[in-house]
Amino acid sequence: MNIAEIFHSIQGEGKLAGVPSVFIRTSGCNLRCTWCDTPYTSWEPEGEEMSIDSILSRVEEFSCRLVVLTGGEPMIADGVEELTRRIRAGGRHLTIETAATVWKDVECDLASIGPKLANSTPWDREGGKFATAHDVNRVQIEVIHRFMEFEDYQLKFVVDSPRDLDEIDALLTQLSPYDPASVLLMPQGVTVEELAAKNSWLADVCKSRGFRFCPRLHIYLYGNTRST
Ligand code: SF4
Repeated sequence: MNIAEIFHSIQGEGKLAGVPSVFIRTSGCNLRCTWCDTPYTSWEPEGEEMSIDSILSRVEEFSCRLVVLTGGEPMIADGVEELTRRIRAGGRHLTIETAATVWKDVECDLASIGPKLANSTPWDREGGKFATAHDVNRVQIEVIHRFMEFEDYQLKFVVDSPRDLDEIDALLTQLSPYDPASVLLMPQGVTVEELAAKNSWLADVCKSRGFRFCPRLHIYLYGNTRST
């Protein structure tokens, strides 16, 4: 399995924001979000080939019950099913962070589902060569439904502007029934200033619709740095 990094940090996003966690970040992604904040797993993938045993050994080095499997897109990693089963069999709580475009028979305690909106399509990057494939693949409703069948889930949308709200509403119509408190709206941005410019109006949207506002705590704590 190609692994970009394994590190101990504070979960910055979602229902478990603020909780110390060990992150396993796979390298490789089937999408190319224009604002991807981990380009070393997508646009210019880096990483080292690791066996599941060696990944688990690294996780064991940290005295931490919560594990987050993220990417890149972890669902395209060979052996991800076995990795998730063994993490949970070891008594740890596992969050999977996925764009939910590919289904694998995995296990987890929290499915963190991040469907990508039209604001992610890279029309202006590298001559737009990835844009059409990205746009076709970025939302897979049946796959999202499968991930929503886990006992706990969150639907996390990266919001760039108020124009995104109509698209979110249309998607939620297709994903009904859903728990509004499990719908998370997160501002797009990798600096405190970018986030601050969006926090206020996005919080108002959450208040009016009963959604959960999703800060990017790690940006406030560490900035846009690797292994955080
Ligand atoms: S799905 Fe995630 S890792 Fe892949 S390109 Fe988009 S933001 Fe980056």
